[in-house]
Amino acid sequence: MTTMADHLRERMSDQGPLTVAQFMEDALTHPRLGYYMGRDPFGRGGDFITAPEISQMFGELIGLWCVVQWQAMGSPDPVRLVELGPGRGTMMADTLRAGRGAEGFLESLDVSLVEISPSLKTLQEDTLVKTPAIHTARSLTWWSDFSEIPEGPLLAVANEFIDALPVHQFQMTSDGWRERLVGPGEGGFRFVLADGPPAEGVIPPAVDNARENARENTPEGAIVEVRPRATALARAMAGRLTRNPGAVLIIDYGHGESAAGDTLQAVKGHEYQDPLLEPGEADLTAHVDFAEFGRAAEEAGARVLGPVTQAAFLLELGLETRAQALMTAAPEHRQEIDQSFHRLTDDGGMGRLFKVLALTSPGQPPPPGFK
Ligand code: SAH
Repeated sequence: MTTMADHLRERMSDQGPLTVAQFMEDALTHPRLGYYMGRDPFGRGGDFITAPEISQMFGELIGLWCVVQWQAMGSPDPVRLVELGPGRGTMMADTLRAGRGAEGFLESLDVSLVEISPSLKTLQEDTLVKTPAIHTARSLTWWSDFSEIPEGPLLAVANEFIDALPVHQFQMTSDGWRERLVGPGEGGFRFVLADGPPAEGVIPPAVDNARENARENTPEGAIVEVRPRATALARAMAGRLTRNPGAVLIIDYGHGESAAGDTLQAVKGHEYQDPLLEPGEADLTAHVDFAEFGRAAEEAGARVLGPVTQAAFLLELGLETRAQALMTAAPEHRQEIDQSFHRLTDDGGMGRLFKVLALTSPGQPPPPGFK
């Protein structure tokens, strides 16, 4: 049986070293061998745990956010509720459950899930058929790309989706920028550098100190990451928001300002490992450049809010009150609820590294959570 490592080596012997983006894309989403394609990576028994899997409170607050936005849009019916990269479907289930309180909300929803993995699609379906609220919605459909989703009023959410989109890496050398590539190495893979410079305009001006004769600020060896598919998604989302009323919420880990740094990381069994060690067997992600996403969306006409930290966002939306209510309703789970609260909001947990960015149609009031 061909393994991911065989497949990558074969590709390299045909076409030479791969870009980090090609390596990452194959490792995660190759139709047969990709990491996401045939497994459930989430939770205690899996490789990593995400906010919606930590606590139902997370998806519930996202649901309230969606309701408030829908009402601010004039309660359009129908409205598309889109989730990109829904994992196990947990966040959507919690979001829908929280939406039951708002009159007419569930009845107006065309629920649209953007998912590339057939096995996760099945998991999402299993989760959602067991969620009574979905049966009140107008429809439930899966898409493989945001661009396929029909026009109309839009609410879109994505948690830990963009970090999985492929990144290119460029390294500063004594001869200027070179793209970082992955080639075969002893018993595995290793980083190499492209021979020539990258195409004009590929290095974002914000981090291209080489431009203004300021090379000393970009030391030799520094790495810059570029994620064209995130920028394209930001533009596509913003374009929608200029044609239809709507709002988008992006939650992920990353930095608020564009900066140099190698953030490519692999996680397996809740431990970090060398990103080149086991392609296809470990989750492979890189930090999201929120400044770049926001810049691209703004340029394409959207109103951009944030990023704010996940802690600030959740607390502003009432996480503390929600936690108290759950503890009162189920005192036997007090400790667990308290632990989840801290994991979601502490600086040492997800509170500070994770950020939240919103896009809305121009002229809409600022959404909750972005004080
Ligand atoms: N949002 C979920 C899962 C995050 S993992 C949670 O928070 O638990 C990333 C998700 O995005 C998975 O569902 C994965 O299969 C999906 N995904 C990754 N790359 C994708 C792509 N290019 N197109 C569509 N879905 C993708």
